[in-house]
Amino acid sequence: MSRTFSFEFFPPKTPEGQEKLRITRDVLAQLKPKFFSVTFGAGGSTRDRTLETVLEIQQSGFDAAPHLSCVGSSPDNIRAILQQYKDNGIHHLVALRGDLPSGMGSEIGSFRYANELVEFIRKETGDWFNIEIAAYPEYHPQAKSPADDLDNFVRKAKAGANSAITQYFYNADAYFRFVAAAQARGVTIPIVPGIMPITNTTQLLRFSDACGAEVPRWIRLKLASFGDDMASIRAFGLDVVTGLCQHLLEQGAPGLHFYTLNQAVATRTIWERLGL
Ligand code: FAD
Repeated sequence: MSRTFSFEFFPPKTPEGQEKLRITRDVLAQLKPKFFSVTFGAGGSTRDRTLETVLEIQQSGFDAAPHLSCVGSSPDNIRAILQQYKDNGIHHLVALRGDLPSGMGSEIGSFRYANELVEFIRKETGDWFNIEIAAYPEYHPQAKSPADDLDNFVRKAKAGANSAITQYFYNADAYFRFVAAAQARGVTIPIVPGIMPITNTTQLLRFSDACGAEVPRWIRLKLASFGDDMASIRAFGLDVVTGLCQHLLEQGAPGLHFYTLNQAVATRTIWERLGL
């Protein structure tokens, strides 16, 4: 099976951000990824910007996969978004539950979990979309238990997903164990590791706290020891993440999905060092 490499963007908010993303996209396009994906803000807050960003990528000749989160949405709402993507020739989606912005706890809407969204997309649109789902090798922060989270992942995969992308992690064992456990439960779709380059200590620790990804003690301590020395942070981050990617690929990971944060340099450097 050929390996799948993909890059994730978020939809920029300003004209400057849009221009910067075009440059990033042009740099990363030279690496010929399978697709670019574009995130979707909680509660649909970026709906138009996600579509706009995706269409621009598509017009540049690449497969573009919008993320779609369902929490807080009605079936009509999701149906309209799916139709808009179909009308624009989009065949690829990353289907998610998403998280409600704080203070909206009572507005869950009709979809409680991502497996319900996957089922809905299949029911409404058949095989039109190639559906990616999220996976959590270190377990989702709200999971009742690892076993329960695995059950939920298996249910979501079997609801009609084509492929999964993981939350980022720096413990390769967690990934391989998760994949083995899912496969033992009959999951056959590729589970592609999500890769977060390390370029900024504060940002990394903030994201990781929020999404439940563990930054191992030795990495945290090394990063802290560099203080504001950004060059050392970046050099160390490149070494660590390139090593992780190399190990994942050597041990059979079916590709890599880079959380680029709309920056090209770290992803491109890791890519070149991997000799891809
Ligand atoms: P689910 O698969 O629904 O799981 C959420 C939680 O509910 C888990 O704890 C699970 O164990 C539990 N659960 C699942 N199904 C059931 C069930 N049937 N019964 C009981 N419990 C259940 N967020 C955004 O807002 N926009 C994005 O663009 C975005 N992109 C992402 C891309 C990737 C690759 C990843 C890994 C995450 C992304 N996220 C995004 C974050 C994601 O929305 C959050 O992690 C969210 O909390 C969970 O979404 P999910 O689709 O994994 O949820």
